[in-house]
Amino acid sequence: MNRSYVPALLLDRDGVINYDHGYVGTPERFQFCDGLFDLVNRAIDCGYRIVVITNQSGIARGYYSEAEFYRLSAWMAQVFADRGAALSGVFHCPYLPGAQMPGYDRDSFWRKPNPGMILEAARSLDLDLTRSIFLGDQASDMTAAAAAGVAKRVLIRPEASFCAVTEADLLIRRLSELTDCLRPASSQDTRAPMRAKPRVPRV
Ligand SMILES: [Mg+2]
Repeated sequence: MNRSYVPALLLDRDGVINYDHGYVGTPERFQFCDGLFDLVNRAIDCGYRIVVITNQSGIARGYYSEAEFYRLSAWMAQVFADRGAALSGVFHCPYLPGAQMPGYDRDSFWRKPNPGMILEAARSLDLDLTRSIFLGDQASDMTAAAAAGVAKRVLIRPEASFCAVTEADLLIRRLSELTDCLRPASSQDTRAPMRAKPRVPRV
């Protein structure tokens, strides 16, 4: 039986969904970025699932617990749903080499710039990464997306000076710039996507 694979708009969290105020662990410090809900609603209208892919070293550093992260994510997902843009998944990596919190001091294939979170999202949600978009605000986002084989990689940098990030296909300063250029995802190819082999060794 054929399985169908769907495209996704994969979103980094801090600096993309919410302004990066530094290790945000509570709704009180969680400020949604301007234009976010216009973007995700447009993406859903164009046939994309919405998936969050986020490093959360704040857990390994002891700024907030993994349970607090889950509570914040549940609140965030409810806001998305209330705004008509249900999330298909939230994937996070709590690990950091050298971190203080017991159990979290290690490298991980899931920690960006490694592609593990994206590959797991694709596997568990039947995503077609060859028709998907990754939006992030760090070079490590672009590296992870490229290593996972995500077709389109968009880097958002509010300031005027863009650093050279070779893995980015598109550089934007505001979310509305991506909203304006989104078009319906091709619905022609529902075959199993070709997935690029990870370029980063598994840890
Ligand atoms: Mg970020």
